[in-house]
Amino acid sequence: MQLSAFPRVALAALPTPLEPLPRLSRHLGGPDVYIKRDDNTGLAIGGNKTRKLEFLLADAIERGCDTVVTAGATQSNHVRQTAAACARLGLPCEVLLERRVADKGVDYDHNGNVLLDALLGATVHHRPPVEDLDAETESFVAELAADGRNPYFVPVGGSNRVGALGYVVCAREIINQAFDRGLTIDHVIVATGSAGTQAGLVAGFESAGATVPVTGVCVSRPEALMVAKVEALLRETWSFLELRGDPPGGLVAAEDGFIGPGYGVPTDAMVEAVNLFARLEGVLLDPVYTGKAAAGLIALIREGRFRQGETLVFVHTGGTPALFAYRGAFQAG
Ligand SMILES: *Cc1c(COP(=O)(O)O)cnc(C)c1O
Repeated sequence: MQLSAFPRVALAALPTPLEPLPRLSRHLGGPDVYIKRDDNTGLAIGGNKTRKLEFLLADAIERGCDTVVTAGATQSNHVRQTAAACARLGLPCEVLLERRVADKGVDYDHNGNVLLDALLGATVHHRPPVEDLDAETESFVAELAADGRNPYFVPVGGSNRVGALGYVVCAREIINQAFDRGLTIDHVIVATGSAGTQAGLVAGFESAGATVPVTGVCVSRPEALMVAKVEALLRETWSFLELRGDPPGGLVAAEDGFIGPGYGVPTDAMVEAVNLFARLEGVLLDPVYTGKAAAGLIALIREGRFRQGETLVFVHTGGTPALFAYRGAFQAG
């Protein structure tokens, strides 16, 4: 099935730029590093969830839903972008925020994305750490339905086969931008969490006949679990697109050496990466996803995994507002 046949609402400013990072590349002394600016998708400070929401909220509208329900960790970028998309479309938005990261102080609980969720008009419900946040959200959805509402459930991170289509679009965009500039991309690096971004990218490259290796840098779970999660969603997305057979094996790679003590917990390598991107390129990363993914990129280049003359694309998936929630990680005292 062609991508254009799926319902879609315009929310993002596309295409996002594909830019070289010459000072960072020179500093690292390895491959030519480019950045795909999905932090600049344009909706309420942007980020990767906006592309997914173009398909998810079109589906909600097509089903005649009157409320959108989703969930995430306290500083969820996905929740903030969902709240913004709902504001834009005039849909009420109910969100569950899970206190997944232990006591991080007043900025973590009230600044960054939390400040923006409220500003964007979402109704926020707080939850203690739970076993299965999607299951918790689905039972909340059932309560709303019992009250006569027609809610639309968006899973954590917007990562199902509908949301993943947003990153099939992104892969096509990268292919076109590379073609226009005569670039051959040797490798793509991206932060991976709920799997929709990586699964969509892999489906998008592969279905376009452009096998580009994509490495996901894990932010929350060990490599084997992450690979299995991406592969499962890749298969679902593949059949949703009505592509022939199963996707080829071996397309999904992940690196779990950069998580540190856990999801959303700062590491020295993350702080170094955020500082390097800021000072060498004027690019703002985030402490939870892209900072750790960039730490992975830097370490893999230093290890010699990628060589001079190669071209590497780092997908910046957004998250910048969380910087304001993690002030303590970047400021001494
Ligand atoms: C959600 C998110 C990711 C991870 O994307 P998934 O599709 O959930 O794997 C990466 N970076 C940022 C900034 C995010 O908010």
